[in-house]
Amino acid sequence: MPIATETTLEIDLNALANNYNFITAGLKPETKIMAVVKAYGYGSDAVAVAKELVSLGVDYFAVAYASEGEVLRIAGIETPILVLHPLPANFDVIIDRCLEPSIYSQKMLTDFISFSEKRKQKDYPVHLKFNTGLNRLGFRKNEISFISETISKTEAIRVKSAFSHLAASEDASEEEFTREQLKSFRSISEELKKKINNPIMLHVVNTSGVLNYPEAQLDMIRTGIGLYGFGNDPEQNKHLTPVTTLKTVISQIHEINKGESVGYNRGLKANKIMKTATLPIGHADGLSRAYGNGNGWVTIHGKKAPIAGNVCMDMIMVDVSDIDCKEGDEVIVFGKNPTAESLANAINSISYELITAVSQRVKRVICRK
Ligand SMILES: *Cc1c(COP(=O)(O)O)cnc(C)c1O
Repeated sequence: MPIATETTLEIDLNALANNYNFITAGLKPETKIMAVVKAYGYGSDAVAVAKELVSLGVDYFAVAYASEGEVLRIAGIETPILVLHPLPANFDVIIDRCLEPSIYSQKMLTDFISFSEKRKQKDYPVHLKFNTGLNRLGFRKNEISFISETISKTEAIRVKSAFSHLAASEDASEEEFTREQLKSFRSISEELKKKINNPIMLHVVNTSGVLNYPEAQLDMIRTGIGLYGFGNDPEQNKHLTPVTTLKTVISQIHEINKGESVGYNRGLKANKIMKTATLPIGHADGLSRAYGNGNGWVTIHGKKAPIAGNVCMDMIMVDVSDIDCKEGDEVIVFGKNPTAESLANAINSISYELITAVSQRVKRVICRK
């Protein structure tokens, strides 16, 4: 890659392929892979990522909202797409674009059936979401009779899969809770299979679920964060490569005298002579204000430059007192080293939040390293 001359998010498709191969290597050959590409492909570029994954043989995509699935269809992606959180307002887009809704409540089920009947659908694929402890979206086990009776009265829809989501698959101290969730999903599946005639695929694990509980891979895994380069422990992370690298550039260098201040609200007051660099990236680009005042840092010529004072909307100032640098030099915010995870951890956040925060203003560049 040429050095960055403006704030740029590099998206390394070879890293994506490496991660896909690592996550899927240990699976049974018949286990299907659902790649989660919601939120712009975890802040990268959903279309570029999806096209690469199609070439790697992915079976399914998942997005959070219907509009995200629509973008993939417009880009020519023909792979089945599960919409994890379809809202009734988007039922028309779902059917127009052949997206497959997750159905999580009785109202959702009856509403989607009437909508599909009105649209003259037959066997429209839907996925049943069960709540086994996350308490976010999903039916409970005691609703299965309602579901099977309701479905038996219509030809408009067909249940393609049933799934649940783990609350703490990354957390070894919650293993007992996770095993309880898996057990509860198993008993839900058994009852469903008794009450619904057509074959139903089962899936329950996300990335850390498949890494920590490979025996729970069932018919399909749903992997998101792992594809983008993050597992849940340093040992796994060795085999995964962060897909996105956020880079920027030095716009200006300032010599700051003792007693002067830097930035809004005079966030930093210099108690010695210092040197700062101003960078064209701010909270509107996805760098939270929580990183200000030395909580976060960037890397310039391999050295840590702490954020000086408050994060502005479009800029930050960083302390480069001990770094030999000049206007135009490249700056790494996160990437392969330091990773988004290490930076996020500095403000008690997680890789997911930092990588998905990179705003649409930031230029995306696709590469293969
Ligand atoms: C986002 C999401 C996933 C992906 O989880 P990762 O931890 O990123 O692998 C899987 N399933 C559901 C229901 C999700 O919402």
